[in-house]
Amino acid sequence: AIWNLGSINADHVYAVPHIPQAGETLSATDHALFLGGKGTNMSVAGARAGATVHHIGAVGDDGEWCVDRLMEYGVDTRFIARVDADTTQALIVVDLQGENMIVLSPGANEVIPQSILQEALSEAETGDWLLIQNETNLQRTAAVLGRKMGLRIAYAAAPFDADRVQAVLPALDLLFLNAVEAQQLQDATGLTPDALGVADVIVTLGADGADWYSRAGKQHFDAIPVEPVDTTGAGDTFTGYTLAGLDRGQPMAQAIGVAMRAGALMVQRHGTADVIPDLKEVQDMMLD
Ligand code: ADP
Repeated sequence: AIWNLGSINADHVYAVPHIPQAGETLSATDHALFLGGKGTNMSVAGARAGATVHHIGAVGDDGEWCVDRLMEYGVDTRFIARVDADTTQALIVVDLQGENMIVLSPGANEVIPQSILQEALSEAETGDWLLIQNETNLQRTAAVLGRKMGLRIAYAAAPFDADRVQAVLPALDLLFLNAVEAQQLQDATGLTPDALGVADVIVTLGADGADWYSRAGKQHFDAIPVEPVDTTGAGDTFTGYTLAGLDRGQPMAQAIGVAMRAGALMVQRHGTADVIPDLKEVQDMMLD
């Protein structure tokens, strides 16, 4: 099973003719509310890929719809705490060229109670995966606790924060970075992905695929050539799928191969959590 300590966001997306200037008031041509957050996307991807995924997180009074939606997508929501804070909101402004601007509210994601983490992990079994990202509190606590319990620890270092990454590095079995994050980590530590002391490091490279660094060296995987229309959520989908494959006992190369296809399907769709492909769609693509 996968235990994902992750963010839950209410994404308010406004379509605008241009990104507003300081002091400007602008009418949007469209507004829509979506379920989002990297943690949520990864939970949904893992569940769509067929894994048992337990989401550990928090929402406020206004977040019941987020929990309902996660449940509908097959994620275990028993360990989502109701806290005295607003559900974290993302204000996302997108212009006609697809350029965006994002502001996050401080909210429930940063006040996840330690008790819910402990309650969740008390049900975890040795060899289960614990997944963390950088959009919540408790991530270092979770990594240390999880490691002590014999869980395998995976970390997607996004949004990048050098201090947070370095604080959890020694506890990790698997690290996901995109190309920008790999560079930022190298700038902060002077270390390339093969020298971080983490057993497996995957660096995703967008249209160039991904590199997997392990004790056996570096292995490159080409991306599936497609015409992207919206690349948001591709990395999160890739992460959820890779972990679901590993959790099923697939060798890393095979798990990455499937995740690569899920990522390629994802970039051909608008949206995030609501449109993450399921395993059948990915398998059908593999037969083409
Ligand atoms: P992030 O969204 O975190 O920046 P990437 O852009 O590296 O992550 O994308 C993650 C994965 O999604 C890639 O490794 C690849 O498998 C797939 N992907 C992303 N962009 C494309 C693309 N343009 N064509 C095909 N696959 C893509």
